[in-house]
Amino acid sequence: MARYKESVCRLCRREGLKLYLKGERCYTDKCAVDRRTYAPGQHGQSRRGKVSEFGLQLREKQKARRIYGVLEKQFRNYFKKAERIKGVTGETLLQILESRLDNVVYRLGFAGSRNEARQMITHGHFRVNNHKVNIPSYLVSPGDEISVREKSRNSPRFKELWEIAEQRSQPEWLELDAENWKGRVVRLPIREEIDIPISEHLIIELYSR
Ligand code: SF4
Repeated sequence: MARYKESVCRLCRREGLKLYLKGERCYTDKCAVDRRTYAPGQHGQSRRGKVSEFGLQLREKQKARRIYGVLEKQFRNYFKKAERIKGVTGETLLQILESRLDNVVYRLGFAGSRNEARQMITHGHFRVNNHKVNIPSYLVSPGDEISVREKSRNSPRFKELWEIAEQRSQPEWLELDAENWKGRVVRLPIREEIDIPISEHLIIELYSR
């Protein structure tokens, strides 16, 4: 599975905002964005000037890709899929990204970040409708049930996460059954329920050029 291997904090600094890629650390004063407000690299502090329309569209797409941890080719494929589905393409694109198993595992609170969710899924800790699924990009559908493999439930990290998940509120389109170590996709989210700082119309404009 191809993925970004450099420091993920650089990605946040490049976008100039917190993308919450490192779980609990993002909420502490160790966050790199809070400590250094400029972009990374040699010229990070001297970048200036007006950003072109294309530049804005590109940044928005990169931001979305980085939040969900998706590579360019796959992201473009999601756009093509969204275009084929009836509805508002931007909202549909976000719905597809939200339906990724790694995102759902993170949203349910079974992982501290999408990165951690990806790793846990690859290691076989989760089941979808009682079948082992170790593909982070697997797209869930309404009615699907995501559960933690029985053998994994005793691991200290899962116990720690479980306590946090029980106290955290889940989005309304997901339902957590903490007692039984599982969650359910009630329906797909609507735009207002997707709390990511993205102007998806800029992404659509970029790919429609
Ligand atoms: Fe981004 Fe989290 Fe790193 Fe802060 S700690 S820069 S939010 S990944």
